[in-house]
Amino acid sequence: MTTTPDDYPVEIDIPDITPYLAGNTGISGITCFDSGTAGPHVMISAIVHGNEPCGAVALDWLFSNNVRPKQGKLSLGFMNIEAYQAFEPVDPTATRWIDEDFNRLWDLSTLNSSRQSSELSRARQVRPWLETVDMLLDLHSMQRCQTPLMMAGPLEKGRDLAKRLGTPEHIVADAGHAAGKRMRDFEDFGNPSSAKKALLYEAGQHWEAVSGPRSVEIALRFLHMLDIVDATIGEEFLKSRPCPDQQRVIQVTGPVTIASDEFSFAQDFKGMEVLPDAGTLIGQDGDLPVVTPYDDCVLIMPSRRLWKGQTAVRLGRFVD
Ligand SMILES: [Zn+2]
Repeated sequence: MTTTPDDYPVEIDIPDITPYLAGNTGISGITCFDSGTAGPHVMISAIVHGNEPCGAVALDWLFSNNVRPKQGKLSLGFMNIEAYQAFEPVDPTATRWIDEDFNRLWDLSTLNSSRQSSELSRARQVRPWLETVDMLLDLHSMQRCQTPLMMAGPLEKGRDLAKRLGTPEHIVADAGHAAGKRMRDFEDFGNPSSAKKALLYEAGQHWEAVSGPRSVEIALRFLHMLDIVDATIGEEFLKSRPCPDQQRVIQVTGPVTIASDEFSFAQDFKGMEVLPDAGTLIGQDGDLPVVTPYDDCVLIMPSRRLWKGQTAVRLGRFVD
């Protein structure tokens, strides 16, 4: 894949996940702990993107601290193992994926197609397990240093779950990308009449040290919210990490999908800027200026991978 310029040092520890790859489910990288009593099947997933080690930090913590469910089942899953294992701190953007983005493959027409890629073959391996999951927390990180975000999806049920969690401060209600469906929107997770729910957490910059403990925190809070682990688990860890006084929801009105071969931003946006006036220039897509469609427009995760068909940035507004 084409790489992008990289300004961020790799400060985060990159956990060795090889001890966890055998798993116990028949699917490499997926381990399931079964309490033996009734309850939801909860899964925490990491490294959907190979260059986002924070999720691996969280799963490593849960394994190392022998976290087990008191009811239901807990699965811990490493997704794009091949990309993660190719990670090299000297070129940290190069290994986001092997052939394509694992997080754009999750509609049935893509999964059931005859198309082949490293990521599609891994997605097809993981899919039967994912179909048994009731509650999914998918751990990610971002290209730029900014406040953590919870990507709650387009449905009320995702937004409610993010609020029950109590953190982070910013919840983003969005429908994803034109380039393909995310794992968090797969089948029942994206079905308003199903009780199954998923959240996608963006911890911070991919390689900043703080993204690791933030991911541990959100994983612990997710397990406690669902009441599937003992109340004492991670108590000490969470004590020093209070939840924000309030959470705010940003409703995404749409992604800016790049239409030309030449997209550039008008400023070096980092994300979460609120542009007060409608019509403010955001960037240039070929010959077309891209402007804010309304007042107080929030820019969410401006991308550095500015390729045709990809999301350049998501636009939204505070609704709550
Ligand atoms: Zn990611």
